[in-house]
Amino acid sequence: MEELTSLTKRRGFVFQSSEIYGGLAGFWDYGPYGVELANNIKESWWRAFVWQHANIVGLDSAIIQNPKLWQASGHIDTFVDPMIDCKNCKHRFRADHVANFETKNLKEYDKALEDKACPNCGKVGMFTPARTFQMMFKTYVGPVEDDASIAYLRPETAGGIFAQFASVLETSRQKIPFGIAQIGKAFRNEITPGDFIFRVRELEQMELEYFIRPEQQEAEYKRWRKFCMDWLLSLGLKKANLTFHEHADDERAHYAAASVDINYAYPFGSKELYGIANRTDFDLKQQGKASGKDLSYFDTETNEKFIPYVIEPSVGVGRLALALIHSAYHEEEVNGEKRVVLQFHPAIAPVKVAVLPLSKKPELSKVAHEVFGAISSQWRVEYDETQSIGRRYRRQDEIGTPLCITIDFESLEDKKVTIRHRDTLKQVRVPIADIAKHVTEQLSGF
Ligand code: ATP
Repeated sequence: MEELTSLTKRRGFVFQSSEIYGGLAGFWDYGPYGVELANNIKESWWRAFVWQHANIVGLDSAIIQNPKLWQASGHIDTFVDPMIDCKNCKHRFRADHVANFETKNLKEYDKALEDKACPNCGKVGMFTPARTFQMMFKTYVGPVEDDASIAYLRPETAGGIFAQFASVLETSRQKIPFGIAQIGKAFRNEITPGDFIFRVRELEQMELEYFIRPEQQEAEYKRWRKFCMDWLLSLGLKKANLTFHEHADDERAHYAAASVDINYAYPFGSKELYGIANRTDFDLKQQGKASGKDLSYFDTETNEKFIPYVIEPSVGVGRLALALIHSAYHEEEVNGEKRVVLQFHPAIAPVKVAVLPLSKKPELSKVAHEVFGAISSQWRVEYDETQSIGRRYRRQDEIGTPLCITIDFESLEDKKVTIRHRDTLKQVRVPIADIAKHVTEQLSGF
């Protein structure tokens, strides 16, 4: 984990937010390579979940919604985590994390934690009784800070989808089964943020709400479990690191009839990466009741009117980025030297191609800029002409760039350049005139 965090900081993937002021726990900034990585993850998700399904459409709803929405969804009353303090060292913990199980009955935590040692100071029997902590961030809308102007930063993107169910249905002319997908920020005032970007207070979610007939719930739940797992594997996550964790009754969110996590074996343990839940008709029913709007669906073929059920696959961009960096991390020895490579799938790699003239001589720069110009509208290409070629290769290996193109003095004569493959280290010489074609071919061969 230390190697991963140090590499990602050193190479500009992730920085602590407001670092010059000492940072703020649970908030991170994505640097130049991190933002490319995150954008690639989101684009891959959008293609797989939206573009490749004729019956799934997108939405971008506001982060702040009418607070009645969160009352109806149950979040104001039940979006809480169990919290305990150590009376000795004053550290605060999530009771379920220290007890190693989840329950809605706080007394069960108190009993289990009686003889547990504090993970920070090691003293036994010093925990306060477990109490609940509301995780939604509060703010005020407008100039007056009174109870009537309280609003919340959304704790999940799903709420906005349920609230727009009828408008999307009407304007997109979809029929059940159909889905609404959304990528966006969500905020959770986590009691103990940590494990780098795994548990944060400002996160980005990629969520799909897939609306179905009630009798389809089991088949669709099963189908989306598999679809999500297959998608993760297609991005290059190692199969051995992924496991399903089916939730027991006590572990599930208040809205779910069934839920399963896809856990990833992070260096700090096997933890939830992806959550897939059968949210039943809970949300549409609740939002319909609270708003007074009819959120039912009329099936024109069967003449039936019903509230659709919904299957929700939901994943955080940051948790996935961390899993992808971990899966991609590879060390090897080449010519007696350690080589660190992030073996990203090309679709995920922040930079696809590096253009590296062997020296800064103007005649080489000129050709190198031509190569850059020929491919940079299609892919993220980095241009680098400083330092020795060996060091530049190492830099590109460390950020996972699949292809490096070198331009040497021979290039001026034969109008060819060398493409180096990140994983095999094989080099091929190709004509500059067909450079885009060769890059396409080589990228698809990973
Ligand atoms: P956990 O049990 O780890 O707190 P959760 O069960 O509350 O997570 P969900 O409500 O199912 O998480 O959220 C869906 C997805 O959003 C998660 O699978 C995860 O990828 C992401 N996510 C949720 N909370 C966080 C967080 N605090 N930091 C980063 N990602 C998060």
